[in-house]
Amino acid sequence: MRKDYSQPLYRPPSEAWSMIIQVTEGCSHNKCRFCYMYKGKQFRLKSIEEIKEHIEWLKPMYKNPRRIFLADGNVLCLKTEKLLELLNYIKKEFPNIERISSYSGPLDLLRKTDQELKSIREAGLELLYMGVESGSDKVLSMMNKGVNQQEMIEAGHKAINAGFKFSCMIISGLGGREFMEEHAVESAKVISAIAPHYFSLLRLVAEESSELAECIEEGKFKLLTPLQVLDENILMLENLELTDCIFRANHVSNHVNLAGTLNQDRDLLIDKLKRVRKSPNFIPNTYTGL
Ligand code: SF4
Repeated sequence: MRKDYSQPLYRPPSEAWSMIIQVTEGCSHNKCRFCYMYKGKQFRLKSIEEIKEHIEWLKPMYKNPRRIFLADGNVLCLKTEKLLELLNYIKKEFPNIERISSYSGPLDLLRKTDQELKSIREAGLELLYMGVESGSDKVLSMMNKGVNQQEMIEAGHKAINAGFKFSCMIISGLGGREFMEEHAVESAKVISAIAPHYFSLLRLVAEESSELAECIEEGKFKLLTPLQVLDENILMLENLELTDCIFRANHVSNHVNLAGTLNQDRDLLIDKLKRVRKSPNFIPNTYTGL
């Protein structure tokens, strides 16, 4: 039985110091056109015995972990009883744990009942990350995300109402040039409607192994220039209506790093982007390492 990680392994930037327990392998959807993350992996749920062996393998490397991230893509695909058993086991093995988190697919959230989600939250899973990617129905459909705008909002509300801390991600540039404005405005609408505790903005990077790379090659999808990305970010920020939401655009893919609380810091963030936009010396962060 395999005890180490099946690669590749992904986690959000904010889980850089967390112990990662691999509970599932791959993504149960695995059809988003822009995504390359788990293309080479067949999705599967690990058995409890397998996960316990994996935890035994991890223990010597993490004496007293404070944070745990459950990977890979769809931890909420696990049957609720199995997830509750796992969370109780983790808390027994690591009594000083302060936070357990995982990715959450919108379809997985929609499939669980409110009561199931509440019991999972009470058992110790505290923070969920959901890739909204875009709020536009056109872009969600074009990218084959598998859910529409309304389902995305509903999934977010279910998580927040169950008591989870909730973090949403949007991918800047995902509408391409054709849907740039629509992507900005509709994404702002969906994030505002969900009202997550955390909101991160990443930028589209079309990896060779993604379906989207072929569309770009064939001229069917046009990537935004760095200045268009800034314009799109400004439009998105202008349309957001949030309260006390921690906002970050500090991923390696972002041309300009941004951090603040929305909407309190919105004007400052927009001013910064406009200043950078006008500057003849603007060099995207993503170019400086080249
Ligand atoms: S973006 Fe998320 S849901 Fe879509 S294929 Fe990639 S991991 Fe799966």
